Amino acid sequence: MWHPLGVFPWRFLHPRMWAFNARNVLHFLIDKLRGAPPRPLRARDFAAEHATPGDATSVLAALDRYATEKRWLMSVGPEKGPLLSEMIARIPAGARVLELGAYCGYSAIMICQRLPPPGALVSVEISRANAEAARDNIALAGFAERVELRVGSSSEEIPKLDGPFDLVFLDHWKDLYKKDLILLEEHRLIRPGTIVVADNTGDLFDPGVYLDYVRTCGRYDSESREAHIEYSNLPDAVEISVYRGSAEGA
Ligand code: CA
Repeated sequence: MWHPLGVFPWRFLHPRMWAFNARNVLHFLIDKLRGAPPRPLRARDFAAEHATPGDATSVLAALDRYATEKRWLMSVGPEKGPLLSEMIARIPAGARVLELGAYCGYSAIMICQRLPPPGALVSVEISRANAEAARDNIALAGFAERVELRVGSSSEEIPKLDGPFDLVFLDHWKDLYKKDLILLEEHRLIRPGTIVVADNTGDLFDPGVYLDYVRTCGRYDSESREAHIEYSNLPDAVEISVYRGSAEGA
């Protein structure tokens, strides 16, 4: 379901983001007037035209090219992506990864590139258009068998999942990060040692509620890595938190 706040979050009205925001609003209006399909599906079509089937690197390159030459994409992108890959490299072979927020499938492809079989990814995406784009891009990259893509809200899907997961990548609606992480704890879907990577935790995203939780609740060892918002020079950060477990032994 289309929701305007899902495209232009209010925090994007911060003065530092005016130029960035103005360009996106202009592109959004042009696309609406033209009756263009959702942006992720156009990015999917661009990747299908320019990437080599089975060559994940070429799919990522095509999505990067679309994001820089055509329309901005809120994928993790080429600067922060290696941080995610670095964390994937720390988890054991055969590990299970959970992603909240598939968008175009960019991060799912990056995760599969670094996660050796039989490691597998479960990705939850609330938007049907995003999920369609992600599914096709993941298949184009050759990872269809490695990813379970679930379409639905994180709050509804999390209780249905089988865990635990060795790494969780949070990249969905930012106001849900804390709530969903607590839900993962409650359902024992993370274990001591699980790495939680949260994208877009720079100040422009107003991440205080989430950062206060992972840094002060006593159940995580947490650190911030500075970066830039995908495909821009605006400051951003990625929060990397390792779950210690709860006092109850979860
Ligand atoms: Ca992101």
